[in-house]
Amino acid sequence: MQLLNGKALAGTIRNEIREEVGQLISKGQRPPKLVAVLVGSDGPSQTYVGAKEKDCTEVGFDSEVLHLSEDISEAELLNTVEQLNEDAGVDGFIVQLPLPSHMNDQRILEAIRADKDVDGFHPENVGKMALGLQGFVPATPAGIVELLKRHQIDTEGKLCVVIGRSSIVGMPMALLMGKNAQPGNCTVVQTHSRTKDLKGICAQADILIAALGRPRFVGEEMVKEGAVVIDVGISRIEDPARKSGFRLVGDVDFEAVAQKCSYITPVPGGVGPMTRTALLQNTLQAYYRHQEK
Ligand code: NAP
Repeated sequence: MQLLNGKALAGTIRNEIREEVGQLISKGQRPPKLVAVLVGSDGPSQTYVGAKEKDCTEVGFDSEVLHLSEDISEAELLNTVEQLNEDAGVDGFIVQLPLPSHMNDQRILEAIRADKDVDGFHPENVGKMALGLQGFVPATPAGIVELLKRHQIDTEGKLCVVIGRSSIVGMPMALLMGKNAQPGNCTVVQTHSRTKDLKGICAQADILIAALGRPRFVGEEMVKEGAVVIDVGISRIEDPARKSGFRLVGDVDFEAVAQKCSYITPVPGGVGPMTRTALLQNTLQAYYRHQEK
């Protein structure tokens, strides 16, 4: 079994981006800029946004976090989105989800101009992805494709089973693996909570991508000998042996499955760091597109 070390690869890619940004600056150009909009004080959201800001600093991007109060109106948030859409110094921006319950997430995401939607959640970008046109691909599936590509994992003609169909992970993941591309060209089976005989289907997969958010759900009996296993899930479970009282686990029972597969991503240190890096890659792409205009 070979570990797909997303943390190490993400570090390599960030070095590449930093070098590229260094070259832009040495030519007198401005660096790319990413803005994150954070509404309210949700703990995990603050952590995610903080990590995104740190990543930007590391590669030499400009970044900014707009902290907005929990009780601003939807109209006020839409106004902020509009200002960012119009700001020529901003290449990409994200509105961190979840939003407070008095707001309609979809209405906000659709207000983001598609050429600045580096999260890839706008329907225009989802449509482009489905059609194989150039747009922004959501960071987690984009990061997984990059992980497969850089490890030169042959996906052509393979049976890929994706567990989960969310709009940020499962659905785009299935689309990308079925695309006429490398990585891609898989025969894809997308599964979800209503799927019958999930275990039997997973056990046939050459590539199994688990994105359901159920800690250690995928056991050894669900994995074919020699399969490639990508674990997207991140859940906290109690661990009294740790000072924090918890630890992070994936959707895959790593210890049991690692014996059987050819490649596997660890949690943490697999898909997570690749997701963060994919957001930087999308921002760089947005920057170049804006420079072309
Ligand atoms: P989500 O929106 O809750 O979607 C979960 C999907 O899994 C749904 O499609 C659901 O089916 C399906 N599912 C749930 N239980 C199932 C079961 N018992 N059998 C088969 N399918 C089942 O979650 P998400 O946002 O896609 O995230 C999934 C996991 O990935 C979470 O642990 C999340 O924290 C993690 N995540 C990690 C990263 C990263 O960077 N590593 C990024 C994003 C998410 P239905 O559609 O039928 O309900």
